[in-house]
Amino acid sequence: MEKTSKTYHIITFGCQMNRSDTERVAAVLEHVGYKSVNSIELADLVVINSCSVRQTAIDRVWGFLRNCEVIKEKREITYILTGCILDDDKKRFTKRFDFVFDIKKLAEFEAYLHTRDMVGDDYLEVLPKYSTEYQAFVPIMTGCNNFCSYCAVPYTRGRETSRKVGDVLNEVRNLVANGCVHIELLGQNVNSYDPVDVEVFSENNPFEHNFARLLWEMNQIDGLGRIYFSSAHPKDMTQEVIQAMALPNMLNYLHLALQSGSNEILAKMNRKYTSDDYRKIVQMIRHVNPNISLGTDIIVGFPGETEEDFEQTYQFYQEMDFDISFHAMYSPREGTMAAKFADDVSHEDKKKRWHRLQSQMKKITLKKNQRYKDRVVEVLVDKEYDGWCEGNSREMKRVRFQSDKSFVGKVVNVKVIEPKMWMLEGVLI
Ligand code: SF4
Repeated sequence: MEKTSKTYHIITFGCQMNRSDTERVAAVLEHVGYKSVNSIELADLVVINSCSVRQTAIDRVWGFLRNCEVIKEKREITYILTGCILDDDKKRFTKRFDFVFDIKKLAEFEAYLHTRDMVGDDYLEVLPKYSTEYQAFVPIMTGCNNFCSYCAVPYTRGRETSRKVGDVLNEVRNLVANGCVHIELLGQNVNSYDPVDVEVFSENNPFEHNFARLLWEMNQIDGLGRIYFSSAHPKDMTQEVIQAMALPNMLNYLHLALQSGSNEILAKMNRKYTSDDYRKIVQMIRHVNPNISLGTDIIVGFPGETEEDFEQTYQFYQEMDFDISFHAMYSPREGTMAAKFADDVSHEDKKKRWHRLQSQMKKITLKKNQRYKDRVVEVLVDKEYDGWCEGNSREMKRVRFQSDKSFVGKVVNVKVIEPKMWMLEGVLI
């Protein structure tokens, strides 16, 4: 294989899974000799790794493409598109990019680069170019069987497939042996993890649910102090998964998408639970771990959402007392079931509902953060700027303290002095 001396730059839109996929695309490029650069202007080859869940992400790709074409008029540059892309989008984009491939077919990209010795049938088995030594994404499954009516993922990533337990544990053990202290397990629906090699689980593993069993195995690995996962679906949040979340090395945070507090809207979204089911799950979680921090996602203005439906979401939010939430105004995603529904909530109403929820979240977030005053939190430092070190606590709160970059990658204890809405400020102890 002849190595190139060209440069590449990857732009990632979307979730952690896309970020993890980017690490595999980077590994393939570096295998053939490409060097990473941090801007398009310096690159010979640019990869856009796009998300397809929302139409806005696809719109961003079109916007980005216009800038690319200006550069291409002036010099030679190669543009590649990958990610989770619907077939129709792929057809449209194929004419404008030099090469378009489905991320699950990473081997096609390898062939495009004139090599075929790295990617096998399962692209997740490619050893990624990890972004840091101290924390890493480890996908355990991909795809989704849930068909939420607004989401394109089941059409782009296909049905759920799980990685083997043996492969996941080997990857994690290697990472930990090389100094990694924080692992984030990834998948569209991690708690429906269903590997073929269940015989690999230890005989004394106390659980029967496969995801709970995996969490237990991870908790046996010496040196791995921080384990986190995303995304979990409420319908698969069993008693065993909830118990496994209380194992000693698990982070003290759960992100569990609610999407709506109205049962009518949840049914139209095809979420497969009611607000009462969700409430019971949260009660069980808080019973096992009263101090857990809880985050969620909510869509406002879904087709047919009345003022009364929204009011139910608003009240339910208050009752659940979430630590943080991400709010989206509904927009139809071509190719999904919901795109066939009338998008009948005006933009004005979507905005009003979004702002109401947002201001409620800010009040609750600040109130909950104020409880951290004078408490000591454990922080993994992932950033340094202007004399501040910043990182996540075990509750996934951003924390900062004054120090230097020698702390990046270290786990430290910080006493919180000034809790703010988006940041806990403190001192190193
Ligand atoms: S659970 Fe629903 S929202 Fe999440 S990936 Fe699957 S279909 Fe999409």
